[in-house]
Amino acid sequence: MQLASRAYRNETREVKIGNVTIGGNTKNTLLIGGPCSVESEEQIQQSAALLKSLNLTTLRGGCYKPRTSPYSFQGLGLEGLKLLVKMREQHGLAVITEVRDATHVDEVIAHTDVIQIGAKAMYDQGILRACAKTRKPVLLKRGFGTTLQEFVQAAEFMLSGGNENVILCERGIRTFETKTRFTLDLCGVAYLQEYTNLPIILDPSHALGYRYGVERLSKACVAMGIDGLLIEAHPNPAVAKSDASQQLTHESFIALKSAIEPVANSVGYKII
Ligand code: PEP
Ligand code: MN
Repeated sequence: MQLASRAYRNETREVKIGNVTIGGNTKNTLLIGGPCSVESEEQIQQSAALLKSLNLTTLRGGCYKPRTSPYSFQGLGLEGLKLLVKMREQHGLAVITEVRDATHVDEVIAHTDVIQIGAKAMYDQGILRACAKTRKPVLLKRGFGTTLQEFVQAAEFMLSGGNENVILCERGIRTFETKTRFTLDLCGVAYLQEYTNLPIILDPSHALGYRYGVERLSKACVAMGIDGLLIEAHPNPAVAKSDASQQLTHESFIALKSAIEPVANSVGYKII
């Protein structure tokens, strides 16, 4: 029987991220903020300050970026990881960053609080097996061509390897539609909530690919009673080195938080 299934275990698993917990009976929706990429100390300090000012706890920023083009910004690597550690130490924030390939997976595990496995990396067996051995939480993103069954199987690699701290992340799949970057699969979310016992985080930023509708989509996501929401925001999106078109300004991020709070409350959840 699949360890991720409700048939195996009915309650949603609890996962601790820094000092907060999601899943179980918590009814917490963790609002994760931060830029697509860690670009400089000044930038990530501004992101950390934004989260602190909103009483939020979890900062996300990519250091190893899996870019489609080799000529695009590839991330600061270890230097970026060290900046995230500095944010944890200075501000008490939990940090999330992604692993691009198995060569640096141990380095990422050593520095971060939550390991993000990106949409393009979710089939990488080296990464999955390394993440099975740690007990640090893993945010597993669904590949854009991945069926729900394949998605859950990837999670199963880590659960069966001994890491029970796996969180699923729906971030949009590729469909025939080209006006939006991807299509956020809310039907898939309903399926995962019904049949799996893993916490679920939604990422409307990467799904839409443009900032204009991220707040409205976030309200729809939160209305489903979810464990977390991942939103990209940048102190100056116009100069962002990756995903510039979808990152919110800090002002819009603050507005988004106010807009989703009553929606979360209406389904018995609270934004943390
Ligand atoms: C990201 O989170 O910045 C990212 C690259 O996302 P995805 O793996 O979903 O494309
Ligand atoms: Mn991004």
